[in-house]
Amino acid sequence: MPLGASMSEYAPSIEIEPRVHLIRGLNKARFPEANALLIDDEILTLVDAGSDMGQVSRTLKSIGYGMEDIERLILTHFHLDHKHHSEEIHEISGCEVICHPLSDKGVETFQGMVECYGITNHPIFDTWKVMVKGWIPPIYSDYTVTGHYKDRQTISCGEVELIPIHLPGHTLDHTCFGINGFEIIFLVDIDLTGFGPWYGNEVSDIRAFQNSIEKVMELEPKMGISSHLLDPVTDNLPTRLRQFYDAFAKRETKILKNISVGYDTLEKLTRLPTIYPRIPDDVFLVFEEYMVQKHLEILVEDAIIVQDGIKYRIERK
Ligand SMILES: [Zn+2]
Ligand SMILES: [Zn+2]
Repeated sequence: MPLGASMSEYAPSIEIEPRVHLIRGLNKARFPEANALLIDDEILTLVDAGSDMGQVSRTLKSIGYGMEDIERLILTHFHLDHKHHSEEIHEISGCEVICHPLSDKGVETFQGMVECYGITNHPIFDTWKVMVKGWIPPIYSDYTVTGHYKDRQTISCGEVELIPIHLPGHTLDHTCFGINGFEIIFLVDIDLTGFGPWYGNEVSDIRAFQNSIEKVMELEPKMGISSHLLDPVTDNLPTRLRQFYDAFAKRETKILKNISVGYDTLEKLTRLPTIYPRIPDDVFLVFEEYMVQKHLEILVEDAIIVQDGIKYRIERK
């Protein structure tokens, strides 16, 4: 489906709990779309701003509100598919905009955001810049942040309580939200998609990501809401989390196999590609490269491979 198509073949939102609506992004909420949550409570609260504005408007209208009535916007992390419409919504409604303190740099300016992505010196940067402007027209502009939430410090919307759970790895600021406790968790980009975990930024970290998924598993949620799946996951959620977690090891195995058959430099492993099933456009190579590189660093640290100049080889003990 082309980007920018305005209607979808599914309901724009579903009520997942009393007062809690999941606003579904267009194109099945696939990047660069993302789901949002709308809390219809004393303080009308939106979590994330990456869903198409039409979807947000239709959901608001269905409960008797308009965009101007939004009082608070909570951002889960600085990524462009999540902050997308934040400034427009702030301008229309005058709502407060709160994020994790570590999100400031990536949210507030385009320059800060691309520094967090870590792509400013990469050859694809200029092409990428033009591409994201097409996806997300307001992305070069500054974004307002009016305040912060703190890890585990409950945000009350009236009846509904949101509990920020700082779960870094995907990015350093990535934050999930427990809804009235931890049985229902907005998992954001611990997104349970078939692609698996994404850690293609400078500020991404594999071990932190693994820790974060472990923490979610320990909380034993009954429902996990992904930013990029249309429906919340309830069936086999522990298994789905485990599969998502296991992707790290599978990718590691693949990297080792590729090294053993001669794809023994970062560039060769990236070009294959190793993690993305295919590279739809060369601009994505930078993210593949970051992800592969983070695995290589860990494999070297664990003395499973040895680096010799630009080449890697399997350590034989
Ligand atoms: Zn993200
Ligand atoms: Zn996302």
